[in-house]
Amino acid sequence: MVGDYRSYLRKLPKVELHCHVEGTLRPATVVELAGKHSIRLPTTEVDQIYRYDTIYEFLEIYKTVNSTVIDRDDFARMAYETLEDGVRLGNLKYREMFFNPTLHTARGIPMATVMDGLVDGIRAAEHDLGVRCALIADVYRQDPPEVARRMVEEVLEHRRPELIGLGMDAAEAPDPPEKFVEAYRVAKAGGLRLTSHCAEDGPAKNVTTCLDLLGCERLDHGYHALEDPAVVARCIDQGVTFTVCPTSTAVVYGWPDLTTHPITRMIEAGMSVMLNSDDPTMFHTDIGNEYAEFCAQNDYPPGLVRRLVMQGVEAAWLDDSDKAAMRRAFEAEIDELDREFGI
Ligand SMILES: [Zn+2]
Repeated sequence: MVGDYRSYLRKLPKVELHCHVEGTLRPATVVELAGKHSIRLPTTEVDQIYRYDTIYEFLEIYKTVNSTVIDRDDFARMAYETLEDGVRLGNLKYREMFFNPTLHTARGIPMATVMDGLVDGIRAAEHDLGVRCALIADVYRQDPPEVARRMVEEVLEHRRPELIGLGMDAAEAPDPPEKFVEAYRVAKAGGLRLTSHCAEDGPAKNVTTCLDLLGCERLDHGYHALEDPAVVARCIDQGVTFTVCPTSTAVVYGWPDLTTHPITRMIEAGMSVMLNSDDPTMFHTDIGNEYAEFCAQNDYPPGLVRRLVMQGVEAAWLDDSDKAAMRRAFEAEIDELDREFGI
């Protein structure tokens, strides 16, 4: 092999299906936006913004950094910069990106401002950098069911072509998926595709609930599915893809290193997974780093890595012709990289 395997892994073309725009703000941008809106931050030292020791401090920082994103230009900047980071650090080609509407509407920001701003940033990034991006609105699990249903109605009222799906995040154990059947029903009736964070800090049976009761087509995380062989077998059988996140979950759940991460067992079991950065700047990572570290530390050979990359293409919510074109472009680019690196 010519050159370093980690740089090969960074340079592979990538699809990302599990990234929360609110967890992608550059620390320097947080400081600038806080200045623009006269918001006091606990620190204005750029390298101290994302310093935390506990999950509670983490959640506090998440709220604080997002309080600096207020007008349409701020939302546009947030979306543009994270796509730029994805391209620069990981050769990102296409992302389906989560946003959390009630995180913003609850602090008085109109839904139109949120969506129009994100769409502005996405379109500018595609124009300047060639990267494409769609949006998935996330239910915040600690919201009451009627707030979630109303959120779905509102995103559908302000629907832009970039909005393609509904997802669900935040603490899973206290608020199981069945709480949001109605929000998912409204989303499906409105033509949205469906996913959910699932079996991350909740039991394997949440996988079954998300598939059968909510109608999810793919799932996010899913590590606890491993605890029930019947659930694992069903997901393999049905071809359910899990959008998994090595770094963020290793940090949150204190898993000691990436070689013992449950994702390795999901791959061994034959489950369909693809790699993602989750909340990249919050966890000091990026999509390039997720591939570089997870695949290199596990000694995954190029053939297996190619399968992980291509699984991202297969699990994307693109139409068939678009997906076929992306499949061809990815295969050609990976072949070229294999030649360059002597693989
Ligand atoms: Zn997530």
